[in-house]
Amino acid sequence: MEIAVIGGGIAGLAAALRLRERLGPRAGITIFEQSARLGGKLRTDAFGEGYLEAGAESFLMRDPDGSPSPAAELVRRVGLGDAIRHPATSQAALAVDNALRPIPRGTLMGVPADPASLDGVARPDLDRDRDLGGPLLAPDEDMAVGALVRARFGDEVVDRLVDPLLGGVYAGRADDLSLATTVPALARAARVESTLAAAVRAAMAAGARSAARGAAGGARPVFGTIDGGLSRLVAAVAEAAGARVRLGLPVRSLSRAGGGWRLVVGSTRDPSTVDVDAVVLAVPARPAARLLSEVDRAAAEQVGVLDYASVALVRMAVPEPALPALSGLLVPAVEGYAVKALTIFSTKWDHLRRADGVALLRASVGRYGDTAVLQRTDSELITLARDELGRLLDTVLPEPVTADVVRWGGGLPQYQPGHLGRVAAVRAALAAHPTLAVAGAAYDGVGIPACVRSGEAAAEHLLDSLA
Ligand SMILES: Cc1cc2nc3c(=O)[nH]c(=O)nc-3n(C[C@H](O)[C@H](O)[C@H](O)COP(=O)(O)OP(=O)(O)OC[C@H]3O[C@@H](n4cnc5c(N)ncnc54)[C@H](O)[C@@H]3O)c2cc1C
Repeated sequence: MEIAVIGGGIAGLAAALRLRERLGPRAGITIFEQSARLGGKLRTDAFGEGYLEAGAESFLMRDPDGSPSPAAELVRRVGLGDAIRHPATSQAALAVDNALRPIPRGTLMGVPADPASLDGVARPDLDRDRDLGGPLLAPDEDMAVGALVRARFGDEVVDRLVDPLLGGVYAGRADDLSLATTVPALARAARVESTLAAAVRAAMAAGARSAARGAAGGARPVFGTIDGGLSRLVAAVAEAAGARVRLGLPVRSLSRAGGGWRLVVGSTRDPSTVDVDAVVLAVPARPAARLLSEVDRAAAEQVGVLDYASVALVRMAVPEPALPALSGLLVPAVEGYAVKALTIFSTKWDHLRRADGVALLRASVGRYGDTAVLQRTDSELITLARDELGRLLDTVLPEPVTADVVRWGGGLPQYQPGHLGRVAAVRAALAAHPTLAVAGAAYDGVGIPACVRSGEAAAEHLLDSLA
């Protein structure tokens, strides 16, 4: 049995490990990764005198039903349970009218259960959310989060609250992102309730009920990361999977060969072919669409519809700045800054706090649809971020002792309305090829837990087919 995993991000790695766990030592599992390292968007770099995440920073510890998330389970399965760390503070702020305000509580991704209690962060239009005698959404309907909230609570709630909070996860805009994919609990409630406030309350109550069922031990931390960085997780999963790892080898084409699959791998000048029995395709949408084009044109087209947002992260080690005791802040687009979020790593995580008072900051720049700022050079972006953060934090940020820029071109998928239907159509089309499964952030969620789950589900799908 030979199985190829195409793409060495966390989804591909989770798939490889699940295959190894189920098939035992005899199965041949090969991970083909085009870049020089495993991990994809999980990457920990040396930074100054320590290290800093270049991509993802932390993972949700729990699923909405209160059970451990697939990411937390994976960390424990590969022996890193003792290295899990939780935020020392999760108090973040929102920049509103050039002042920092606490992020209001009692919201679902910024959509408030009680729009009258937003503490001056946004003035909702309270007359709009009228009961018109029927549910807000038809059974299969999806719409942009921004469209629903603008219609019911007015523009300020979207622009000052929902947009920055959604942007913090998806790097996208509320007016583009699918409600059913990005806030699924609210979409479910909106199919029953006839006002948005009632839908948020119902979704929050349902979430609290299932979390209470799963969390017998009381309140538990929401986020976790790994002491030493998420690259430790990447290395541990790769090791446990016992797969052959072929780095620097892009897969160029994928086609049927006999009962299995033929991969063309390597550079265009020096390609080679590899035949396998089954394939997990765990790459972003664009390469996935290219590789699927010889397999099923309709599936390839549906996958290729997915667009991505690009971001740049400006990382700075700053000696003894005057900073508020916050994990970070979010900056709504309407405030007019290029910086859209800041994480203060050295305040947020005790294990990253430095005895010499050097603060570790990471600012993200670049909003979906507005890429002009990303054309600037690294040193321009560092200067811009330092200047804007000084204004946002009302301080003069000292000259950084270390600074760099990490660019993620096409880093985060933008799930637009109808995304779930497109993914269902892709899987339906691929049902004709049971030994091929797709996985990763292009399909079932961008977060690390969702990517781990989709990798494991792809592995289970292949195992069922091969059995
Ligand atoms: C800046 C940033 C911050 C984030 N922060 C968080 C966070 O804090 N928490 C969280 O839960 N999520 C976060 N995310 C999201 C999350 O990290 C990603 O969605 C997730 O890691 C994607 O995993 P993946 O395996 O699906 O894809 P990827 O990580 O993109 O891996 C796909 C791999 O496929 C390889 N590949 C592509 N084409 C080919 C080919 N033809 N042949 C071979 N290999 C190929 C790529 O080189 C890549 O290594 C963040 C994302 C970004 C960009």
